[in-house]
Amino acid sequence: MSDFRLNTKCVQAGYKPGNGEPRQIPIIQSTTFKYDTSEDMGKLFDLEASGYFYSRLQNPTCDMVAAKIAALEGGSAAMLTSSGQAANFFALFNICECGSHIVASSSIYGGTFNLIAVTMKKMGIDVTFVAPDASEEELNAAFKDNTRAMFGETIANPALTVLDIEKFAKVAHAHNVPLIVDNTFPTPVNCRPIEWGADIVTHSTTKYMDGHGSAVGGAIIDSGKFDWMAHADMFPGLCTPDDSYHGITYAEKFGKEGAFITKCTAQLMRDFGCVQSPQSAFILNLGLESLHVRMPRHVENGQAVAEFLESHDKVVKVNYSGLKSDKYYETAQKYLPNGGCGVVSFELKGGRAAAEKFMKNLKLAAIETHVADARTCCLNPATSTHRQMNDEQLAAAGIPAGLVRMSCGLEDKNDLIADLEQALAQI
Ligand SMILES: *Cc1c(COP(=O)(O)O)cnc(C)c1O
Repeated sequence: MSDFRLNTKCVQAGYKPGNGEPRQIPIIQSTTFKYDTSEDMGKLFDLEASGYFYSRLQNPTCDMVAAKIAALEGGSAAMLTSSGQAANFFALFNICECGSHIVASSSIYGGTFNLIAVTMKKMGIDVTFVAPDASEEELNAAFKDNTRAMFGETIANPALTVLDIEKFAKVAHAHNVPLIVDNTFPTPVNCRPIEWGADIVTHSTTKYMDGHGSAVGGAIIDSGKFDWMAHADMFPGLCTPDDSYHGITYAEKFGKEGAFITKCTAQLMRDFGCVQSPQSAFILNLGLESLHVRMPRHVENGQAVAEFLESHDKVVKVNYSGLKSDKYYETAQKYLPNGGCGVVSFELKGGRAAAEKFMKNLKLAAIETHVADARTCCLNPATSTHRQMNDEQLAAAGIPAGLVRMSCGLEDKNDLIADLEQALAQI
C-alpha cells in the first residue's frame, strides 16, 4: 500500500481480502480466540508469536483499521483506543511516569489540558505550558532534566492556532525527547505531522475521521523514527526489561518501528482497557473510506463561511487560518497548503446575548458540543463549555463572550451562508 497515493489508501489500505473472503473489513465481534494447544497460546502471552487471544489487547477489525490510519499518517505502527482522550493519555503515559515532566502547547483541547494539567499532575507528572508561537529560546527554556515529551495540536481545538511543527520537533529533538502531535482537525488528508518531524501522532477519530457523529474513538500512530535506545536512561519503560512481560525489553525486541505501539498495547491497554469496539472500528472505517472526498468540502465550506463573516458588519473578528488576515495564515500556507478544516470561530458584536440570539435563529446549524461532523453545528463557549467563567476570566483566556465556534459540515455553502445571513439580520 505504501506505493499508492493517499486517496487510494483512504479507500483500501489496511485490509486485503484473499480469494473468496469478504470485500469489506469484517467485524470480528469476538472477545476471545481459539487455540489447539496451551503451547500455542503461551507463545502469544510471551509476545514470542503474534496473534490474537483477547480483544482487550488486540482485535483483528481494530488492527485492520489502525493499519489504514498508520498508512495514511506515514507511520510504522498504530493502535485504536476508545476515545481521543485515551489516545492522548496513552501516548504520554507510555513514556512518562511519576517524576517526569511534559512541555505542552497551551493552545490545546480543553479535555487534554485538563488531562495534563490536573489528572496527570496527580500521578506525579509535571507540565510546563508554552505559547504555540513561542520562540525557539522560549521553548528551550521550558525543558528540564526530567522532560520526557513535547505535545501540541496541529490546529488547536477551539483556538484554531496552527502549530509550527518543524520548530517544535527541532526543540524536542535537541532535548532528546519525542514530539507528540494531535492531528485531529486537519486529518492526514491535510497534514501529515510525521513528514515535518513529529514522532508520535494522535487522533480523536470521533471527529473528521468518523465524520458522521457516529462513533467515539481515538488512534495513536508511531513514526518509528525515534531512537529510544540512544537515550535509554530517559526511557526505562521501553529500554529496560519489563517484569510484567517476562523481562522483555521492547526497544530491543521490536526496534524503533514497533516498540512504542507494542508496549502501549501490551502494558497500557492490558492494564487500563480503553479499547475501541470492533463495531466502532467498522463505523470508523466507513468514514475513512471517504475522508479524502469529505475534507476538501469541509475546507471549501469553512473558507466560504469565514470570508462571508469577515465582510459582515456585525462580526468583530474571524479566526480561520485560510484567511489572509489570520495570524496563522503564513504557518498554515506551509503546513496546510490544501486548507486546514471546516471549523471557524468568530466574535459577534453584542457579546453573549447576541451570540445566544444568533444561534437560536440558525436553521441549519445545530447547537452541539461537537465538531467535524457532516452536519454543521455551532457553540458559544461562554454559555456552554466555559460557562463557569465570568467576562473578565473569559477575556483573559482569549475567549470573548460573543465568540461562536462553527463547524462547517458538508451542506451547500450557499445555504450555510444564507442561514448565517438571516440569523445575523435578527441581532
Ligand atoms: C475532541 C478532541 C479530543 C478528545 O477526543 P474524544 O474522542 O472526545 O475523547 C482530543 N483532541 C482534540 C483536538 C479534539 O478535538
